Amino acid sequence: MEGLELSEPVNYQEDRHDETAASLNFPIFQSSAYVMPKGEKYRYTRESNPTVENLAIKISALEGTEKTTCFSSGMGAVFTTLFTILKPGSTLVIHRDMFSRTYRLSTDLLGAWGVKTRVADPGTDNLLEAIESGADLVLVEAITNPILRVNDIGKIATRIHSQGGLLAVDSTIATPYNLNPASLGADVVLHSVSKYISGNNDAIGGACSGQTKLIDRIDSMRRTTGPSMDPFTAFLVNQGIKTLDLRMKRINSNAERIAEAINHFKGIQEVYYPGLPSHPDHRIAREMLKGYSGIVTFKSRNSIDLVSLFKKLRTIIPANTLGGVGTIISHPATMSHRNLSAQEREKLGITDTMFRLSVGIEDPDLILKDLEVFNGH
Ligand code: PLP
Repeated sequence: MEGLELSEPVNYQEDRHDETAASLNFPIFQSSAYVMPKGEKYRYTRESNPTVENLAIKISALEGTEKTTCFSSGMGAVFTTLFTILKPGSTLVIHRDMFSRTYRLSTDLLGAWGVKTRVADPGTDNLLEAIESGADLVLVEAITNPILRVNDIGKIATRIHSQGGLLAVDSTIATPYNLNPASLGADVVLHSVSKYISGNNDAIGGACSGQTKLIDRIDSMRRTTGPSMDPFTAFLVNQGIKTLDLRMKRINSNAERIAEAINHFKGIQEVYYPGLPSHPDHRIAREMLKGYSGIVTFKSRNSIDLVSLFKKLRTIIPANTLGGVGTIISHPATMSHRNLSAQEREKLGITDTMFRLSVGIEDPDLILKDLEVFNGH
């Protein structure tokens, strides 16, 4: 290209690189399409992209599944899965204590499309009862958001399979470090990779894993409807996922320490954490999970002014997400669960005094020092 005159035609065919050029990090293939005929495998980035595919392969390895397809968000993964498996007249079973957007999607949007959605109260027994009369699909969160019930994936899988239906598990809070739902019979494993899998609060994405035959159907729906992950997001998640094991090991142990400590705080009325023996699902959590993950939900004894609370915090960051290396506090009633009506929140016990802590990798003493604010310090 040296000595190129502006009037000279540029030969873009020369602008080719070989494979990954031995790059230490899997490169970002920032290209909308691929040169044919060599690029036939990927064709067009809405359909597939090498950087995104590289992430999909890693998630399959972590989940022990045959295939994964990636999405522009966790909700993209949830929606595309539901829209692929269900059709007007189908029955879906969910539980009341779900991430509020998934709840709204399942009840309102799919309801308007002719799907019959049955909503079980929290807990495995209620889910098993709701499946008794059959269903095409059961969608559960392994650890629920924000009240942290732990659903018995093996039992639910056995029951729905005996009825000829499928089980999709949103394992975002559990993470592949603590749980592999497919090994317990889940047909689809869903993740918001915006949380622990990326781990740095810098990416929004989703993933859906399982056996090739079913994932190919969901993948085909993604290619048609378009909620595909972009290559830069895949690069960020590819970087974050390298430290998932280390982060989760630390996060599991930090959260355990914090839940036990704040359970004795005089300013805290109730702690929701599956690792505490008082938790209603402690037995199944102990059996099913490698660790209890990083979310600790609690209710303060007194009503709290959010603005002054957030100002007093030094280590903990107030934000609308979870799953990063830094500890984050959120207020479900005005943040993650604001899309529920006041009555719906009340049924779940999501009061104005409830807080959700996503414990990070910091020194746990620093996190506890901040939480002293609930004791009036
Ligand atoms: N599933 C769970 C359990 C979540 O907490 C979230 C959170 O936002 C989602 C799905 C949706 O993921 P995303 O924000 O990546 O669309």
